[in-house]
Amino acid sequence: MTAEPPIDPSTMSLRTGTDDCVKCSACDLECPVAAVDDDFPGPKFQGPEQWRLASGTPAVDESIEACSNCMRCDDACPSGVPLGEMHNRARGEHVAERGLSRKAIRDRLLANYGRLAGLASRVPRLSNALVNNTAVRWLLERGLGITAEREFPRFATTTFSDWFDARGGAQVTDPDRRVAYFHGDYANYNTPAVGKALVRVFEAFGYEVVVPPQRCSGTPMVANGALEDARRAARFNVETLTDYVAAGYDVVCSCTSCAMALRKTYPELYDFEGVPEVRQHTYEAVEFLRLHADLSSALAAAEVGEADPLLYHTPCHARSLGLANRTETLFDRAAAGPVTDLGDACSGIAGSYGWKAERYETSMAVGAELFEAMHAGEGETGMTECPTCAMQMAHGSDADVVHPLQVIAERLDLDQE
Ligand code: SF4
Ligand code: SF4
Repeated sequence: MTAEPPIDPSTMSLRTGTDDCVKCSACDLECPVAAVDDDFPGPKFQGPEQWRLASGTPAVDESIEACSNCMRCDDACPSGVPLGEMHNRARGEHVAERGLSRKAIRDRLLANYGRLAGLASRVPRLSNALVNNTAVRWLLERGLGITAEREFPRFATTTFSDWFDARGGAQVTDPDRRVAYFHGDYANYNTPAVGKALVRVFEAFGYEVVVPPQRCSGTPMVANGALEDARRAARFNVETLTDYVAAGYDVVCSCTSCAMALRKTYPELYDFEGVPEVRQHTYEAVEFLRLHADLSSALAAAEVGEADPLLYHTPCHARSLGLANRTETLFDRAAAGPVTDLGDACSGIAGSYGWKAERYETSMAVGAELFEAMHAGEGETGMTECPTCAMQMAHGSDADVVHPLQVIAERLDLDQE
């Protein structure tokens, strides 16, 4: 494996972004962590103020660890200050300098969830028994600072990629309608039903679906300051996906954080060949079907009957892609069953953030508004595109939570197994 060159903060071009900040505090007002944590100085400080103090290297305060990487401040800024990029680079700088500690080891493990999940999935039954054993959870909290308050997600007995290979890959071929599925780690190891639903829905619309070799999108790595790990993963993904894009495939993601990585984080952090092409051809899966396959008409024509009411949450990373409420609107306009929009609250878990023992209470305080909306809404089934938002919604409300692709597969009467 080729070693990546170290990141040189002096080559960062973010200082100019600080000059665009008009100190309006719109970002601070949008920050869900600042709203519940009086000690967190907020995105204006984490972004332009820290960078303004710097003459090349950001002067990073350790409070950057309390930023959940939800990206809401990035969208709130009226002046185009690259807050998310500033936070990501500052976090990487801070983590590179903080030295070895229990927290550093824990964060590196959480950053590389995909590698751990790959190992655990080789013996899924044993792994499931172990990680949800009370004594093991207690040890993980005491030893590593991984909260014992949450139940670990279960590892699938058959991963998505094994299922896809066993069925013989694509069942539809069409040189004019082809997508490459970037499933990410979670749909592969924990929720293969989401990946299966994507394949079946796209094939129902006549699309050829292929599953390229891939690594973690890098979102948990960036969120934990493991920028070199993220860079290696991104390089692998871009090199692979560039070939598919050149062959006429669009890239579709079932996870909004994966889509955000390919569309937003990679162009901000990396200048590899192929990054612009991958960005241009990457879609969140439901977005792709809305734009290219007339999903709306198909849903409108479906026999919905007495469908269970659904409680829909837009993940923050979907908001950062401009997709707020689009799924709820799609179901509503197509009369595809009752869906309640849960509002614009953040779920609070932000990937691995809510798994950290010292962030658990903040994570739940941020999520409180969403939990209240779920309790008040009609229905007992949640719906969202983000796997960790789904985890948090279930944790805070006891609801079952599904992915929109699973609901679409059911509405279109497609095989769900
Ligand atoms: S990314 Fe989210 S948590 Fe971090 S500063 Fe911005 S709004 Fe706050
Ligand atoms: S929203 Fe933008 S302009 Fe306003 S304080 Fe934050 S960074 Fe500065």
